[in-house]
Amino acid sequence: MENRTGLIADIQRYSLQDGPGIRTTVFVKGCPLGCRWCHNPEMINPSREVWYNEARCTLCGKCIEVCPAQAIKGYKDEREIDRDACIARTGCLKCVEVCPNGAMSAVGQEMTVEDAVKEVRKDEVFYRHGGGGASISGGEPLLQADFTAEFLKECQGHLLDTALDTCGYASWDTVSQVAQYADLILLDIKHMDPIKHKEETGVSNELILKNTKKLAKMGKKMRIRVPVIPGYNDSEDNLKKIAEFMV
Ligand code: SF4
Ligand code: SF4
Repeated sequence: MENRTGLIADIQRYSLQDGPGIRTTVFVKGCPLGCRWCHNPEMINPSREVWYNEARCTLCGKCIEVCPAQAIKGYKDEREIDRDACIARTGCLKCVEVCPNGAMSAVGQEMTVEDAVKEVRKDEVFYRHGGGGASISGGEPLLQADFTAEFLKECQGHLLDTALDTCGYASWDTVSQVAQYADLILLDIKHMDPIKHKEETGVSNELILKNTKKLAKMGKKMRIRVPVIPGYNDSEDNLKKIAEFMV
């Protein structure tokens, strides 16, 4: 039976980056890649965790006092969480509860498909008038394939436009299971050289490129995106190869 509960890192309304028009984007937690430039590092780990915001911390020390796992280290100017020792995934959020300044926050909340769809439907009126819809991103939505497929399917059932923002790194069975319910697929291509791809993301690009070709063959509407990282993938040669791959 499909899993209708997902671990959600965030839900962002009025999003303009994750597909056409005004959208609501559900960000799932967990990603199989570890890109050096990742702008959502709190979404990489596939389990619930605590995130520390140094700018809000007044170094009061309350979090250290209550932590049952001695997972918080107190340095002169900041706190550091030992992620191996932290037991947030088992339900402990004592540091979040006690912090007077909101410097500790929990990332990762279990949510059913029904609740996620209910949340995105709050802005349905904007989608209808602005050509937007519901998007799912992350992290990597294909890591929670059952949840993602059911979420997109239900959104389509409510006549919402759906977009899947993926790195494309999953088995073809998983990709096709989810892609069938996406009206648009946003897919990142980072580098055409498999070795360089692995160096900066942790995985080779071979599976990603294969899946991209299969999605195109399947007739899926796609938008290929290239995060331009100076000195890594912005050479004329690499950009030319990406352009050639796309035609
Ligand atoms: S979630 Fe619990 S175990 Fe983890 S750092 Fe906070 S108090 Fe410590
Ligand atoms: S409880 Fe909050 S403000 Fe106090 S040291 Fe911990 S993170 Fe900083």
